[in-house]
Amino acid sequence: MRIERIGLTNFRNFSSADVEFAPRRNLVLGPNAQGKTNLLEAIHILCVGRSHRDRKDENLVKFGETFYRLEGTIEHIGVRTTIEVAYGDERKRIRVNAKETRPANLIGLTPVVASSPEDIDLIKRSPGYRRTFLDMALSQLSREYLVTLQQYMKALAHRNVLIRRRQEGGVSRRETDVWDQAVVDSGERIVTARIGFLAEIEPRVEENFSVMSGAVTGIELIYEPRGYSLEGAASGVREGLNAALEATRQLELARGFTLFGPHVDDFKFLCGGRDIRLFGSEGEQRTAVLALTCAEVSLIRAKAGYYPIVLLDDVFAELDEARSRALTSLISNFDQIILTSSRSAPPAEGEIEEIMVAEGRISYGG
Ligand code: ATP
Ligand code: MG
Repeated sequence: MRIERIGLTNFRNFSSADVEFAPRRNLVLGPNAQGKTNLLEAIHILCVGRSHRDRKDENLVKFGETFYRLEGTIEHIGVRTTIEVAYGDERKRIRVNAKETRPANLIGLTPVVASSPEDIDLIKRSPGYRRTFLDMALSQLSREYLVTLQQYMKALAHRNVLIRRRQEGGVSRRETDVWDQAVVDSGERIVTARIGFLAEIEPRVEENFSVMSGAVTGIELIYEPRGYSLEGAASGVREGLNAALEATRQLELARGFTLFGPHVDDFKFLCGGRDIRLFGSEGEQRTAVLALTCAEVSLIRAKAGYYPIVLLDDVFAELDEARSRALTSLISNFDQIILTSSRSAPPAEGEIEEIMVAEGRISYGG
C-alpha cells in the first residue's frame, strides 16, 4: 500500500501544495514549525478520515479560511484509488473514486500506522489513549471489529439514556433487558478481540523491544477490565460482563451512566515484570511505544498480506545511537515509509527521497 501524491488546500499552514512521494523511503525535511507534522497529519486523514492529534476539523482549516480539502492517490498492486476529504460549513465530505462515502468506510481501505514523540502518551497518560490505540489498530485490521464497536457505542448510549430515565422511574424490565443484552453482546466481542490482539502482538513487541534495547526483556501486555472481572468464579468475558450488570445496577442508578465495559477498560505494559508506566525511563517508554508501533506494522503485514503506509514523525530525535540504528534495521523491511526530521538525514538504508518543507511550501532535494 502506497501513497503516490497528496494535494492540500487550506490545510493547517498549507495554502495550496501538491506533494509526490517515492514508493519506498521518503524524508520530509525542514526546520521547526514549517509544516512537516502537518503534512503527515494530512496523509493520516486521507487514510482514515480523521486526525490522530486533533478531533476538531475546524482546527485543521488554515487560519482565516473557511474550508480545507485533501485529495490524493493511493496505489496498491497496480490499482489506483483516489480519496478526497473535505471539510467546510461544519460538514465533512469523503469521496473514494469520486463517490461520496461515510467516514467509517475509509478505515481499513488504506491501512496506515503513525508514530510520533507524542505517542509516549500511550504509556504515560490516561486509559483513553490506550483504548484509542486498540480500537484504531483493530478497526484497520477487521471491518467486523469496527462495526461491532459502532454497535457497542450505540447500545451504550441507549443504555445510559435508560439509566437516567430509570432514575425518574417508569422503565419496564423488558426495555432494560434489551439494552443490557446489547451492551453485553457487542461488549463481549470487543473485549475478546482486544485480548486476542494483545496476545498476538505481544511476542512481536517483545522481539522488537529486545532488538532496540539490546537486551532480552520479557514483555507482557495485560488487558485490564474495569468494573468486572475475567478471573475467579466468573471466568470468561460474557460471564464477567453479566455479573457486572447485576453488581453495578444500584451504583449506576446513582451515577447515571454505565460503569463497566470496554469503554472504560485499559491495558498494562509490563517490561521485565514491572509496569513500564510507573518504572520505565523516558527512553524505555519511547522504545516500548516504537516496539509496539513496529509490531502493529508487522501484524498488519501478516494479516492483510501487505504493509501499511508508515508515518514516522521525528522518531529518531529522542533515541540514542544504538537505538536509532536498531530502529533503522527494524523498519528496513517495511514498504513505504514517510519520515520527518528537523535536522540532517537520520540513519537510513538505501535510497531516500528528500521532500523539503518551508512555510507550508514544498521542494524536492537530491
Ligand atoms: P517541528 O519540527 O517543530 O515539529 P513542524 O514542521 O512539524 O515543526 P508543524 O507542526 O507541521 O511544524 O506546524 C507548522 C506550523 O503550522 C506551526 O507554526 C503552526 O502554528 C501552524 N499551524 C497549525 N495549525 C494551523 C492552522 N489551522 N492554520 C495555520 N497554521 C497552522
Ligand atoms: Mg513536527
